[in-house]
Amino acid sequence: MKVIIIRYSEIHLKGNNRDYFESALVSNIKTVLKDFRCQFGRSNARYIIRNFDENDLEAIIQAVKNVFGVHSLSVAEEVDTDLPAISNAALAFAPNSGTFKVVTNRADKRFPMKSMEISAEIGGDILDAHPDLKVDLVSPDNTVYIDIRENGKTFVYGTTIKAVNGMPVGTGGKGIVMLSGGIDSPVAAYMMAKRGMTLRAVHFHSFPYTSMQARQKVLDLAKIIKKYTLHMTVDVVSFTEIQTQIHEKCPEEYMITIMRRFMMRIAERIAKMHGAGAVITGESLGQVASQTLESITSTNSVATIPVFRPLIGFDKDEIIEISNKIGTFETSILPYEDCCTIFLPKRPVTKPRLDHVLRVESALDVDALVENALNNIETVVIE
Ligand code: ATP
Ligand code: MG
Repeated sequence: MKVIIIRYSEIHLKGNNRDYFESALVSNIKTVLKDFRCQFGRSNARYIIRNFDENDLEAIIQAVKNVFGVHSLSVAEEVDTDLPAISNAALAFAPNSGTFKVVTNRADKRFPMKSMEISAEIGGDILDAHPDLKVDLVSPDNTVYIDIRENGKTFVYGTTIKAVNGMPVGTGGKGIVMLSGGIDSPVAAYMMAKRGMTLRAVHFHSFPYTSMQARQKVLDLAKIIKKYTLHMTVDVVSFTEIQTQIHEKCPEEYMITIMRRFMMRIAERIAKMHGAGAVITGESLGQVASQTLESITSTNSVATIPVFRPLIGFDKDEIIEISNKIGTFETSILPYEDCCTIFLPKRPVTKPRLDHVLRVESALDVDALVENALNNIETVVIE
């Protein structure tokens, strides 16, 4: 029977927290498998998916591969622990050309042959059937694995598919990611989910200055991220009134600085409403005027909970590489305007001084503007 073997990142599953991590991992794998007909369960220190429709094989692999905490997968043949059956299965995994070796793991010590003997025997069978192949024990092109389990069953497989690793989502606390339509923030979300964070997103839009397409683009990004975060809800917050007020009452060059402070305040309030303990942004040091140390200091000073900036030390190239890998890039580069592009100053301050910022901001009724924005949230649950 064809099965899928799932290996987890063992390192996080040691010690007292093992059950906690493992049950989060199992529940997350079950979540991504719920659309498939299959059996999933633990068996002899591994997780195995059985009884699936072979047409779903590729889709199941893609889904499980993206579950944080999963280290790797193999598609294996599960046979009775009996030499002819093992040999038969191994032949199906034999390569067509090049070099190979057979590696055997014998957990069932009742099986009369030693690992090395089994490998030699099966390797011989493969050579008999494919006389062109050569054995190379040091750096073979292909390896056939034989894993003899304690329960009278043996797994035979060839390749190992690398998965995303990381920590199971749900084991790293909860955070609110500030999700724009750009390249960076979806990557920031991915990075924190990879460390086990449960995420919820906030997006600021400036309807009617920003379009419905711009809003939809962010929801589309949220949907892609959901592949990794497993659940996703976006709080869409109207920023129009705040921007209009800043535009009217504050010097132009402080527009972005003050806007950022409002975004942070609102994100933090949303975090508190949902029991989240951190805010996440896609900022990267020095990337733009609003991401200098001074600008970040100004934004950060309104926050009272940790603000995580997982991309702070990344170059744009590196961020784009991850964005491509996780599948958000093509959507991120769609040319819809972001709310930050409205009333954009010609010369934003790059090194705002906090005392100046506070003076400039005192022209506004900050509390009322924040409350008003919070009272008009549109919550979108991503299906
Ligand atoms: P991104 O590619 O994530 O948009 P960026 O390089 O365009 O980042 P900025 O526009 O300066 O950088 O934004 C910095 C961070 O502030 C973003 O990564 C995001 O976390 C947050 N942010 C910016 N605009 C919005 C928005 N409209 N809604 C929610 N968060 C936003
Ligand atoms: Mg942006």
